[in-house]
Amino acid sequence: MNSLHLKSFTRCKRKAWLDFKGKKSSEVWSPHKAIDKIKQFQIFSEFCNSEIYTGLKACENGYQGVIGLKIKGNLFQNINAEIRPQLLLKTKGKSKWGQYKYLPAVYKLGHKTTKEHLFDLAFSSMLLESFQESKIEKGLVISSFNKKVNVEEIYLNKKLRKKVLNVLLSLNECLEGFMPEITQDRKKCTICSWQKFCDKEAKENGYLTDIDGIGSKTASLLITNGISDTQTLASYSEKQLGEKLSNFKDQKYEKASVFVRQAQAYISGEPYPIFNKKDNNELLEKTCSGFYIFDIESNPDDKHDFLYGFLKINNLFTKKEDPIYKPIFNLKNNKGESYREIIEILFSQKEWPVLHYGETEKIAIINIAKNLNFSFEEIDSLASRFIDLHTLIRKSWILPLKNYGLKTVSNWLGFEWMQKNVSGSKALYWWIQYQITENEIFLKKIIQYNKDDCLATLQIAEYLIKNQLKKN
Ligand code: SF4
Repeated sequence: MNSLHLKSFTRCKRKAWLDFKGKKSSEVWSPHKAIDKIKQFQIFSEFCNSEIYTGLKACENGYQGVIGLKIKGNLFQNINAEIRPQLLLKTKGKSKWGQYKYLPAVYKLGHKTTKEHLFDLAFSSMLLESFQESKIEKGLVISSFNKKVNVEEIYLNKKLRKKVLNVLLSLNECLEGFMPEITQDRKKCTICSWQKFCDKEAKENGYLTDIDGIGSKTASLLITNGISDTQTLASYSEKQLGEKLSNFKDQKYEKASVFVRQAQAYISGEPYPIFNKKDNNELLEKTCSGFYIFDIESNPDDKHDFLYGFLKINNLFTKKEDPIYKPIFNLKNNKGESYREIIEILFSQKEWPVLHYGETEKIAIINIAKNLNFSFEEIDSLASRFIDLHTLIRKSWILPLKNYGLKTVSNWLGFEWMQKNVSGSKALYWWIQYQITENEIFLKKIIQYNKDDCLATLQIAEYLIKNQLKKN
């Protein structure tokens, strides 16, 4: 076992097992992992003033930062372990290499220091101590916010070391045993490279957490009440189920009805209409004389929206010409020019609604308007033109799907992205690649991706409008 298994284990036992024993062909390349690696290197390099080198020689030469070192050792009498410290940082002391020693450091992406970071540092220190023949009192957690590097010192006390030893023992046991169950907390799965593999099994076994709105807590409540799979859930009546959902208080029957219908739709593969005439008729009326579709690509860590994409639809029902797509880049995050262009587009058709999927786009436009010193009334009237199709589809349909994300819904409607296996994080990965290489091929990929996102949103709008016409 190694540091990577430990990291996976703290997130999901099954992931650690799959990383160790799973069929590699079932694993999907994860842009998150790649982005993490790039950012990690950039921050470490900045922190060490670019004095960062690879391997054992770098330790012997006493360089400031050392990466890519693998150290093998024995944890207990018969357990082989390997640490892969993300970064070793030179500090005062005495080791087998001379009048200095190294401390382990890890990179943190978000704001929160988690078990994952603490365990990694403690595990690294255990084997590193004997390897460099010097004691390690602390490790470092390095992060970056708003382009400023932050460092947190973690004391590797006895309590933490003992805890990690116990975790390592359980990890060893897990790796030697059978494949663990799918995690109850399926939110963890969204960025996991084994997601496709696990999703297939979950669907085949009727896992309750496959039903939109059912998280780990509700799933265990249902299981204790004898409802252990989607099939059983689908056979319940709203009243029967509502009585078991006391934790939802006043909303229990409402929730029960949604869960049962969602499970029925999921099993049958058929969508279920929610009669809610007002919203969809409104959509039809508002869009009949033309509308925009709007989608943003952003780098949330840098708070940087780097591409705004507009699709112009003159008439949804006469598809004589292809819709006009206009991408607006904000490469340097200097706002001015791209902001003016966006406002110009929006005001060239003052009455047109702007359709988008999710809340980000509307928030971004309000911020742009504030930045350009629009009055309250102007901001209000601009914001009122935005229609979030994600909210709308949830209000008007129960779909036979696991979630209501843009990709899931539009794929179900038959939409295909020109580029294979794409996602928002893949676009972010391309963006980071562009920033490093300045190779425009990455911008072209991002444009194609954003255009397809707009077209996918259009397909959902068409579905909502045309099916509403049928419902009427
Ligand atoms: S997809 Fe989910 S259950 Fe499967 S290994 Fe990843 S985190 Fe665990």
